[in-house]
Amino acid sequence: MKSDFDLDEKIQDFRQRFYPEVGDPLWTDWRWQLRHRIRDLEGAERIFKLTDSEREAIRRRIGMLPLGITPYYASLIDPEDETSPLRRTKIPTLAEFERSGDECEDPLGEDAHSPVPGLVHTYPDKALFLVTDFCATYCRYCTRARMVGGGEFLPEKRMWEKALDYLRDHTEIRDVLLSGGDPLILSDERLDWVLSRLHEIPHIEFLRIGTKVPAVLPYRITPELLRILKKYPPLFFSIHFTHPDELTAEVRQACNRLADAGIPTGGQTVLLKGVNDDPETMKALNLGLLRVRCKPYYLHQCDPIQGSAHFRTSVDKGREIIRALHGHTTGYAVPTYMVDTAGGGGKVPVGPDYVQNREGDYLILENYQGKSTRYWDPQDHAL
Ligand SMILES: *Cc1c(COP(=O)(O)O)cnc(C)c1O
Repeated sequence: MKSDFDLDEKIQDFRQRFYPEVGDPLWTDWRWQLRHRIRDLEGAERIFKLTDSEREAIRRRIGMLPLGITPYYASLIDPEDETSPLRRTKIPTLAEFERSGDECEDPLGEDAHSPVPGLVHTYPDKALFLVTDFCATYCRYCTRARMVGGGEFLPEKRMWEKALDYLRDHTEIRDVLLSGGDPLILSDERLDWVLSRLHEIPHIEFLRIGTKVPAVLPYRITPELLRILKKYPPLFFSIHFTHPDELTAEVRQACNRLADAGIPTGGQTVLLKGVNDDPETMKALNLGLLRVRCKPYYLHQCDPIQGSAHFRTSVDKGREIIRALHGHTTGYAVPTYMVDTAGGGGKVPVGPDYVQNREGDYLILENYQGKSTRYWDPQDHAL
């Protein structure tokens, strides 16, 4: 069987060097990729020239966020340069063992807003359904580092039944966001099962899947998967992208296949120091996403999980990036910049403010070039 993905030229050298015996059909088999993830020091040393800090961080890890990198994603990471952007997001360093400020295990207070295991109900009409704790590739800044990758369990359907019962009982919930872990590492059969159960609940009118799989394991986007996803409209995808280096030929095909199947996709990006915290990188990423019909949706401030200080920028940095995009390029390429607040306070948009002042019946607005303009906006609206 020949693969139906066009393979990116850039990763062929890597394959020659590290996986010479693996042909295209295996390489593009998402299950093969999962089974052959780099998960320990030995696996990492085989490919990457590790620094002392990386080696020690991998060695010390017991019970916390594991190492996990698909061979596909490893091919995008520079084996020699420890400062390469994607490498920093996947290979731990000793900086992860440092604690600072308000950092905690569950910064968003999700556990306190969890009426039944696996369900987070923070907002009035939408709920977050954590269907697995397993990811294809673990991000070092993961908001759910406290729960992902632990046992790497694939939940039983009966564990989902409690969450489904809650969703059936709560008729105010009209939007369910499947996340985890990554819902797309579930088998086709399980995903079909859970989507069909959600789809048949009359008050649930909107489904979305939060995933990084199209970026780290694009081969998962198979014709069989698309056939399943198509059955449950409106189903949106929120795809976690980090950097333009992720936009390979395979990833572009995966996104285009989703769009062709009628599945609207949005991009979600976490702002990360030294990885994507400059306007040029963010612009290249967002314009790249638009080319594959994925609308940059949110830019997230990095949540204060334990050991993430080396990833966090100031909020001003994020506002500066949005300011550098808005008006300077296509509006569709400008995401909303969000800070998720402690204790279940919810997401707060914190983008730049263009209202400078009020002068009587005029608002003083700043345009994208920094010029002030007056806008007639009578306060009494007595017309
Ligand atoms: C982010 C989030 C959602 C979805 O929020 P949107 O702004 O609608 O994308 C839902 N529930 C929880 C708990 C969340 O953190």
